Amino acid sequence: DRSELVRKLLADSVKPSSTDEEPLIVCRRLWKSYGDRDVLKGIGLEVNRGEVVAVLGPSGSGKSTLLRMINHLETLDEGEITIGGRYVGYAKKDGKLVPTSGRAQARAEVGVSMVFQNFNLFANLTALENIMEAPIRVHGVPRDEAEKMARQLLATVGLSGHADHLPHHLSGGQQQRVAIARALAVKPRVMLFDEPTSALDPELVGEVLSVMRSLADAGMTMIVVTHEMNFAREVADRVVFFDEGEIVEQGRPEDVLDSPTKERTRRFLNRLG
Ligand code: ADP
Ligand code: MG
Repeated sequence: DRSELVRKLLADSVKPSSTDEEPLIVCRRLWKSYGDRDVLKGIGLEVNRGEVVAVLGPSGSGKSTLLRMINHLETLDEGEITIGGRYVGYAKKDGKLVPTSGRAQARAEVGVSMVFQNFNLFANLTALENIMEAPIRVHGVPRDEAEKMARQLLATVGLSGHADHLPHHLSGGQQQRVAIARALAVKPRVMLFDEPTSALDPELVGEVLSVMRSLADAGMTMIVVTHEMNFAREVADRVVFFDEGEIVEQGRPEDVLDSPTKERTRRFLNRLG
């Protein structure tokens, strides 16, 4: 069954380590501005190994910017991010921190992987090839080994029969499941999801959330930006509410969602209805 398959595949990703007493992800005093607009204002966030954090907040509050920073897609103006003690965006050379050059390589080194709202699959590659690409190109995995793993990953997201399909022959839900398989193929220690179901027709949301739930159950460390309140409530260990570049409130899902202590959180949740 799926959860057993997922558990096996994620064995490397969720492996306990000697640094488990410390949070796996540490973000300290993150500041980011575009021109004179402050988008992140001193964000601090820590995520433990195996923890699932749901990030909620209005559009424009800086949620994507935070995930993109952790995934080496944005630079930070101030502050620092470490994953398993390694600096995101920097490598140690002769005892000094120097900015890393290749994003893909840097991502591989810290072990982070991301799933986007619009899937972002390579349009000219089949489902199978999409999944094999990073292991071969970035991680130097031999082709036959990469293919074997890609087929296993396709099976775990329920798409064994779609290996040779191009993205435009797949539904949105299927494309997003391929994107999740592709993100997992590099054996990340951390999975970032940026509104992974927001672009989907309502009837396709469930199949994607169900794959995400099985990753969470298998012990994957995840930060999920989402408006799916039921998912946040049932799957997340913690809910973090963002507004205007700040973390306004965070806590257990039942506390934040049912009894928010801050007016801004209350207003946001009321608007969602
Ligand atoms: P969210 O994901 O919470 O909707 P974002 O992190 O995407 O918010 O954006 C936060 C703010 O930063 C928004 O006002 C957005 O317009 C602005 N922003 C994001 N990326 C850029 C960019 N590359 N250049 C200028 N402004 C940006
Ligand atoms: Mg966003």
